[in-house]
Amino acid sequence: MTTATLTIDLHAIAANWHMLNRMSQGQTGAVVKADAYGLGIDRVAPVLAQEGARQFFVATTKEGVALRRVLGPGPAINLFAGHMPGDAEKIRSAQLTPMINSVDQLIGHVETLPGHPFGLQLNTGMNRLGMDASEWGALRDIALSQHPRLIISHLACADEPGHKMNAAQLKSFRDMTAGLKIPLSLGATGGILLGADYHFSLTRPGIGLYGGLPFVDAQPVVTLDLPVIQVREVPAGGSVGYACGWIAPRPSRIATVSGGYADGLIRAMGNGATMTHNGTKVPVVGRVSMDLITVDITTLTDTPGHLQLLGQHQSVDTVAGFAGTIGYEILTSLGPRYDRVYLT
Ligand SMILES: *Cc1c(COP(=O)(O)O)cnc(C)c1O
Repeated sequence: MTTATLTIDLHAIAANWHMLNRMSQGQTGAVVKADAYGLGIDRVAPVLAQEGARQFFVATTKEGVALRRVLGPGPAINLFAGHMPGDAEKIRSAQLTPMINSVDQLIGHVETLPGHPFGLQLNTGMNRLGMDASEWGALRDIALSQHPRLIISHLACADEPGHKMNAAQLKSFRDMTAGLKIPLSLGATGGILLGADYHFSLTRPGIGLYGGLPFVDAQPVVTLDLPVIQVREVPAGGSVGYACGWIAPRPSRIATVSGGYADGLIRAMGNGATMTHNGTKVPVVGRVSMDLITVDITTLTDTPGHLQLLGQHQSVDTVAGFAGTIGYEILTSLGPRYDRVYLT
């Protein structure tokens, strides 16, 4: 078989949600944007709903419509992007809850969908989405008269517990929401780990569900096994791959595995990356190609049928480190060519 196998452990996702739920003071939601961080929203979201998640979050209206088809009526589906022009009919028919980000969005929402549930997103310092304190001050009474279901904000530096931005955003969120009797939500995975002050009524974990940092206690969720297509002997001085990217320093045995940058195994991963065979590390050599990666297996005594990139020996964050990126990007880049196996 030339197709690599991506195994996704749905039990581990459920266990991670429960661990984060036990740590959270209030309710625990689930962030399933970007196809549940690349792992397949149609398989992941129903498991989270079954385990008890009632508040789901996606980025866009299109994602929300797809999620409603998966979940059916019941769970709340909240849109981080808010209510964008042209989306009213989709928001109405799929019963989505936009997190309103601006005065313009609020006006658009109440004009096109009066009485339709919505939430509000406040900017407490990240300067990405949400209403600024001044905007909120001017709009607050009008917005509250429309009965928002939820008020959220997002932390910029929650993966660095010592960062002064965390306390500053917490204070700003408290100031902007003082005295309100509306459910509040500030913390994502990192915010849950910062402690109870950051939890409010609802937490919004994403990456922690999928086994990524900063949730160090997460159960690993993904395993990626790449089939070995061919093994060859390369003499000392022989080169491997595009641009002669690697020169064998000694007679070497090179395995060519099926998988490349078209599968999200990004080129930046080349030098210094490893794969594993029964727990033994073997180095990636030469450049990552579109469909193929070359690995120096000289130290192995046997010839493996496949090599593992992600799994119990190498986490998504380890692999992210090879490429100078973050686990989030590795997960969301995993391409459509894999055979996906879901452990249920
Ligand atoms: C992506 C996102 C989350 C989830 O963050 P994680 O770090 O993956 O837990 C929560 N809230 C907002 C606004 C987001 O954009």
